[in-house]
Amino acid sequence: MKSIILSCLFLFLNFALLAQITKPEVTEVWDPEPRLVTPGAKYAAPPSDAIVLFDGTSADNFTHDGQKPVDWIVKDGIMTVKEGTGQIVTKEEFGDIQLHLEFRTPSVVEGEGQGRGNSGVFLQGRYEVQILDNFENRTYANGQCASIYKQTPPLVNACRKPGEWQSYDIIFNAPVFNTDGMRIRPGFVTVLQNGILVQNHTLIQGTSEYIGMPKNIAHGDGPIFLQDHGNPMSFRNIWVRKL
Ligand code: MG
Repeated sequence: MKSIILSCLFLFLNFALLAQITKPEVTEVWDPEPRLVTPGAKYAAPPSDAIVLFDGTSADNFTHDGQKPVDWIVKDGIMTVKEGTGQIVTKEEFGDIQLHLEFRTPSVVEGEGQGRGNSGVFLQGRYEVQILDNFENRTYANGQCASIYKQTPPLVNACRKPGEWQSYDIIFNAPVFNTDGMRIRPGFVTVLQNGILVQNHTLIQGTSEYIGMPKNIAHGDGPIFLQDHGNPMSFRNIWVRKL
């Protein structure tokens, strides 16, 4: 008798539960309400909560290797690589970010393959989204513009002509390491080049290595670094949002 009562009760509860989840409100999430962020007035202008890293006036948010003031040329609202001075890194370090930057490869085309308009955006100083002039310039697919260098080719070649301004919008989820130094979640990156999806939530295998395989050594937040690869590359309008 007792078991019959319990079975009836069990069935009743199941029916009650079923009735509950057929209501649309059950799966509605109201809180926390997404924060209001005012978009910038122009395409790619920094939104209200962005950290502006380069607004065209000074390179003060960057250094060479964390110490030395930037020797790259800042003029007429743009910043240009001064060959041989080395990469520049942000003073601030970041984890998950949305990053916008605009770059221009030289209008006077010199070199070929990897030697033409080479730079790169290194996320956390380790993971390179390649910058290269691949307008009618073939190189290895996983080393061309918008590749995750030596790992994943871009979905398409979205390069503009040399000398034209191009944009990157990068969404980066940093890898996670446990206290033993093991990577427990890989990093992921999404990239839009000139508004075109070129990396779609791409898994980052590890560090960008010119020779050898990607490495995964535990680390925390890191700077954004822009590469001096010996070409007079220019940059403007660089901003970041922490996620
Ligand atoms: Mg590069």
